[in-house]
Amino acid sequence: MAQKKVFHGAKKSGEKKGNDKKSVAKKNIAVKKAPAPSVNQEEMLLQTLRGMRDILPDEQPYWERVRKALAHASQEYGFRRIDLPTVEYAHLYLRTVGEGTDIVDKELYLFNTRGGDRVALRPEMTAGLCRAYIEHGMGVLSKPIKLFSIGPVFRYDRPQEGRYREHWQANFDMFGENDPILDAQTIQLAYRVVQQLGLKNIEFQVNSIGTPESRREYEKALTRYLEAQKNKLCQNCRERLVRNPMRILDCKEDKCIQLTFHAPQSLDYLDLESRDHFKHLLEYLDELELPYTINTRLVRGLDYYTKTVFEIRSTDKDGKNYSLGGGGRYDRLIESLGGEATPAIGFALGLDRIVLEMKRTQVKPYQEARPRVFLAQLGDMAKKKSLKLFSELEKNGILIAESFGRGSLKSQLRVANRLGVEVTIIIGQKEALDDTAIVKDMVSGTQETVTHERLVDAAKKILKTNQDLRV
Ligand code: AMP
Repeated sequence: MAQKKVFHGAKKSGEKKGNDKKSVAKKNIAVKKAPAPSVNQEEMLLQTLRGMRDILPDEQPYWERVRKALAHASQEYGFRRIDLPTVEYAHLYLRTVGEGTDIVDKELYLFNTRGGDRVALRPEMTAGLCRAYIEHGMGVLSKPIKLFSIGPVFRYDRPQEGRYREHWQANFDMFGENDPILDAQTIQLAYRVVQQLGLKNIEFQVNSIGTPESRREYEKALTRYLEAQKNKLCQNCRERLVRNPMRILDCKEDKCIQLTFHAPQSLDYLDLESRDHFKHLLEYLDELELPYTINTRLVRGLDYYTKTVFEIRSTDKDGKNYSLGGGGRYDRLIESLGGEATPAIGFALGLDRIVLEMKRTQVKPYQEARPRVFLAQLGDMAKKKSLKLFSELEKNGILIAESFGRGSLKSQLRVANRLGVEVTIIIGQKEALDDTAIVKDMVSGTQETVTHERLVDAAKKILKTNQDLRV
């Protein structure tokens, strides 16, 4: 277990002794609020903040497999990458994600800059994406405009496994078209990614929460239903009832789940346009034979969604399920931020959860290509020449290992053996003087001395022979 290391900042020379509450009280002096300690005086904890973590090299092969699958899918489906700042004006999230949502009310990392701006760490990426879309006049581009983004997001939530205060998301978003075929294609793309990652038992849950107009009717009906049984709701949901009643459907408390079981459903309140949209989406999903179910309780935690909402879930053998990502349409968001009315749809994948799921279901991580050649050197002159030779071989596409820091040939060869390379190139003092190198075939045990000009070809020849022997 990691040890908690604590460093104490040096006491400043001017610091007074006995300045604690007790001694102040003894002297009967009015207690003034102590000034916050300067950064130098604070304890320094050598550990990450709660809910934040390092993704160490050993874990990177999983992440690399995810990154590769995302890059591949975004290319296949014609998405272009965009990178956004992690900090935006706080208003952006208050206006889009919405007050009354957990993300804004409880989980936003909110602070003032030294310049006096009220800013927030992004709790999700869609709002920033829409800001960028408007700011850079992307509306003039040919539609649909497809954007892909990947990066950390921040939510001041209660940490537990799979829930971090900093986690990674990949977002795929399409702007400019409202045809339900785009909704189906979005879900198809999400499925493609999780399939490429080798994840099994994936299910999509879909629902429609309609246009904001049809939703108003629905919210009224839901509020009427819940108002009558208000005292059976948890404290949080009693507040939600006033501010954002649809969020009650998301509550994980048993009593709220029970109570909302027979609550009115958004699908019964859809206007003609939303109903038609949803019907077409389901037809496309049937045609694609994607594993989906309709979850009438699915509303998603953000205010900006319209019509289609969906989540990507995986289930284990005990029926427990995990949310790997989710998304939906947000046809009014760009307009509500002051841009031209632009329909849009997108989804976010939670990469930390995907990696956990890969581990849980024993999916193989990405395997780095292993070096097949080792470069060993002996003596000062050989050492000098070896750096240049390394770069020569690497430029010619040979993945090469070395152990330049070790002096003895024996210990270098031990490393070569441990790595299981097929070729070892050795430059000793004589070879350094002659501009030659010994090329040793580690499989057959034969070796020859070649000039530097012939070195690349000689190494490649052995590698090819070994390859041919394996086929
Ligand atoms: P959301 O925007 O809340 O729908 O989140 C999208 C996806 O991000 C979820 O489906 C989760 O996979 C993942 N996610 C959400 N919150 C967290 C968190 N606190 N820690 C890790 N992953 C998260």
